[in-house]
Amino acid sequence: MDSKRFIADGMLGKLTRWLRILGYDVEFKPYEKDETLLDLAKKTGRILLTSDIELYRRAARKGVNVFLVNGKSEVENLAKISEKLGLKLDVEETRCPKCNFRLKMVSPEEVKDKVPETTLKTYREFWVCTNPECGKVYWQGSHWKKIGKTLKEAKNLVNQVKA
Ligand SMILES: [Zn+2]
Repeated sequence: MDSKRFIADGMLGKLTRWLRILGYDVEFKPYEKDETLLDLAKKTGRILLTSDIELYRRAARKGVNVFLVNGKSEVENLAKISEKLGLKLDVEETRCPKCNFRLKMVSPEEVKDKVPETTLKTYREFWVCTNPECGKVYWQGSHWKKIGKTLKEAKNLVNQVKA
């Protein structure tokens, strides 16, 4: 797992969740001013993700590591970011899409009070967010196929560009 870390501006909630699913550490700052985002990026060494061309230019002038997100779809954004920054598009280590903490795998027994009975019967593997204030439980339900499909499309796009 590479250690690239990010900070995303308020427009990029969706991309934030995607990158977290891919295991990347992404701070999401929907309410911060541009100035604060620039300072935070600089101080923490996180790469600033923004779709705001003005903020992008300011960041570049200040020597902040910045990536302009300007794809027309989530697939395109993921493909571009993967290609330019060398991010992997495979799910190995996931972070909580909601809060950015790491997930840990747990047995069905450990989540039996937290998920519906049918889910408990259908799935063998569960993950729990390690943030005590979040504690969200995940399993590879129907949304998982969609995640896989989107990542596959993004990978195909990267390969097309390379070819
Ligand atoms: Zn969480």
